[in-house]
Amino acid sequence: MKILFTASECVPFCKTGGLADVVGALAPVLAKKGHDVRVMLPLYSMIPHDYVAQMKHVIDFEVELGWRKQYCGIEALEKDGVTYYFIDNKYYFGRSYIYGMGGDEYERYGFFDRACLNALPLLDFAPDILHAHDWQAGMIPALLKIQYQHLPFYANIKTVFTIHNLQYQGIFGIPEVQDVLGLGDSLFTDDKLECYGCANFMKAALVYSDEITTVSPSYAEEIQTSYYGERMDGLLRARKESLSGVLNGIDIGEYTPAADPLLPANYTADDLSGKAVCKEELQKELGLEVKKDVPIISLITRLSNQKGLDLIDRVIGEIMEEDVQLVVLGMGDARYVNLFSWAEQHYPGRVAARFRMDGALAHRIYAASDMFLMPSQFEPCGLSQMIALRYGTLPIVRETGGLRDTVLSYNEANNAGNGFTFFNYNAHDMLFTIRRALYFYNSNKAVWEMLQKRGMEGDYSWDHSAETYLSLYQHMLKQPQEAPKAKKPRAPRKPKVDVVVDVKAEEAPKAKKPRAPRKKKTETAE
Ligand code: ADP
Repeated sequence: MKILFTASECVPFCKTGGLADVVGALAPVLAKKGHDVRVMLPLYSMIPHDYVAQMKHVIDFEVELGWRKQYCGIEALEKDGVTYYFIDNKYYFGRSYIYGMGGDEYERYGFFDRACLNALPLLDFAPDILHAHDWQAGMIPALLKIQYQHLPFYANIKTVFTIHNLQYQGIFGIPEVQDVLGLGDSLFTDDKLECYGCANFMKAALVYSDEITTVSPSYAEEIQTSYYGERMDGLLRARKESLSGVLNGIDIGEYTPAADPLLPANYTADDLSGKAVCKEELQKELGLEVKKDVPIISLITRLSNQKGLDLIDRVIGEIMEEDVQLVVLGMGDARYVNLFSWAEQHYPGRVAARFRMDGALAHRIYAASDMFLMPSQFEPCGLSQMIALRYGTLPIVRETGGLRDTVLSYNEANNAGNGFTFFNYNAHDMLFTIRRALYFYNSNKAVWEMLQKRGMEGDYSWDHSAETYLSLYQHMLKQPQEAPKAKKPRAPRKPKVDVVVDVKAEEAPKAKKPRAPRKKKTETAE
């Protein structure tokens, strides 16, 4: 199969979160299985120079964005069997940040999305599957269906869109998006591109993609409810036949405590003595009291509300009444920087907080800690809890999304489980769960070590997920041959796919009156 990923970040080139890990790990695994896998990314200025030096200039052309014509270069780099194409335009991507705060984001990623599609014939690459990730690539499936698919070159491309985080949707003014992407008024009805009076890149993808996936089975269910649906739940319920959840894996090559070069000592599930060395070294490094029997609870996270940090804020005093140390590595909201800075001052030698992106320190913390706390309000998949398990660090998580799919609470009755969980979004439920974990840590070492070993031996590799994606792709490609005239396509998908309009034809489709339930949805959400 010829597979194209389009995404706004990808390790090892540029990363702000789990999206980069997923794209960077999945592409090579699919390539290893014998497929022609290519990835398109923006050429940001923060991509390390070593990689930029290896890139080769392939082509350049102009991209029309409304009245503008913008330069677009394509630079290519081969790595681990994958061809990476970098979309080059210094005006849009030569900035000191990956994501801006609103501003001209619609133009930057509108340019990116248009450039990805325009580049394909010039690269002579017509993918069987175009797999777009998150809102930044969300206009690609929509533009493809609306403006490109009447051209023979694009006619057979099937699209998959993966929601990595439904909270970030790319919401902008309609006139701005129309101006940049040349989309007529008739497309801005609520069954197409309009969304609560705005243009919304994520919604565009949810309407026009052939298949939608998200990064865990539980999150796929949750986002169809108004609590988790971020105002997309109605649309997602309508498209549920085309929506599935595929659990992410982690790059087990990078996260193997027995061979991790970033650790002061390596260890295995059978011999954890190296983990004790890692703990002692981290305590020294971060200025914590060096005490081998005091458990370290760690957090490595974006400092945002999503991660449930307000629960920690609520009971931090009670957590610190226990004999524990707290280690935090993260960047984000000032509220939480203030909270953990205060805690570091208030509990000297017992709390350490570092506010930066530091991959090497993250490895040392995963290895040195005893417990990893992740009380997320919602969690599409979450990679950190799987990394923690792999390092013999027991997760304490809220039962939501991917956390629910990867961490099972220890059950004394049948000995099942690999961590500790709580269900309600409630600070004291979290506190009691921390205390429960502390009980086993302090009073039942046999259970603790059994759980550590079980966590370390779990399978978090990409193999299984890659197979699931491949069978989805294969299923999509088989469909037209099996049902050429789509006599009876799957019901909920049809109305959306029908909206295949080219730029000129776009005025034509019956300007149906907008569907009624929009207002209702708001009511439900409230
Ligand atoms: P999200 O994508 O919502 O941020 P995930 O758990 O899916 O959360 O992925 C987060 C990834 O980013 C993990 O690999 C985690 O170790 C890493 N990470 C988060 N914050 C930092 C940081 N400050 N320094 C280094 N790595 C970090």
